Amino acid sequence: MNKCIPLLTGSLVDYNICIVVADSLRYDVAEAVHPTFLSAVTTLHRCAATGNFTLPAHAALFSGFLPLPVRGIFRIGTQSYPRLIRSMGARPAHKDVGLLFRGPNVIEAWHSSGRVVLGTGGVQFFNPDPSSVNLGRIFPSFVYEGPALNVSPIDPSELHRAEQQTAIPGAQDALRVSGTAAGPWLLFVNSAATHFPYASRGNPVMESDRPYLEFILQATRDKQWPYATPSDLRDWGIGKQTEALRVLDRELELLITHLRGQSNLPILLLVLADHGEAFGESGFVGHGVNTEVVLEVPLWVGEILPN
Ligand SMILES: [Zn+2]
Repeated sequence: MNKCIPLLTGSLVDYNICIVVADSLRYDVAEAVHPTFLSAVTTLHRCAATGNFTLPAHAALFSGFLPLPVRGIFRIGTQSYPRLIRSMGARPAHKDVGLLFRGPNVIEAWHSSGRVVLGTGGVQFFNPDPSSVNLGRIFPSFVYEGPALNVSPIDPSELHRAEQQTAIPGAQDALRVSGTAAGPWLLFVNSAATHFPYASRGNPVMESDRPYLEFILQATRDKQWPYATPSDLRDWGIGKQTEALRVLDRELELLITHLRGQSNLPILLLVLADHGEAFGESGFVGHGVNTEVVLEVPLWVGEILPN
């Protein structure tokens, strides 16, 4: 290995980096909600997903392949970036890249350069159980707060767990406990608040939600498309994700405000969905299918300067 080549280069190398995946969040919800905090500090882009479910989309993300805008390029302040993060091993792009990394993924490159990396949250794919895929295994430290294995996501115990969980689970505590909030840090959060069953603290599951949840669970198990869906499923689902995004936005503001006061470095804030979610469009329900509402995702990006 050539030791003269740094592990990290680019104009964003001296930033703290906060990546939040709002799992399953649809682009049309993101655009319609216009969340207060995110809209004030970032720009929303409509992007093409890199996968139609959690596993491939996160594998791509950690490998430096982010969803790209369907039109235009990323903007941070006055700077434009065709690519925000990219592997040095990728085909030469001859374009401005915010952060170039050397190594199998950006998480390991950041950590190997002596910087702080923390991951938290997690849908089922981040479960650290040895029998799980465990997307969090590339992190030196990952605080998993997601569902247990082999429990239905709408089992009362599981719904109760989800409703006790914040939309930004453990992130602030993780950095505080580690004593490394001064940075430079890379904080990754997979937020399950926007993922089925769309429950988090401040966004509880009501009794009236149960028939819709049971329908989605059955449809995504059957996977026999097209699926005959209730005419009001789409409005219900969009309503659930709308509330989830509002909770996420409020908690993000608290997190970023806190972290901003702990470091002299600017924060690159990147909030995106890994894939969308279908609520009956073209007969599809859930994700893991190649249909427009699953393959278009929101991506907000912006910089928060130190106080
Ligand atoms: Zn996902």
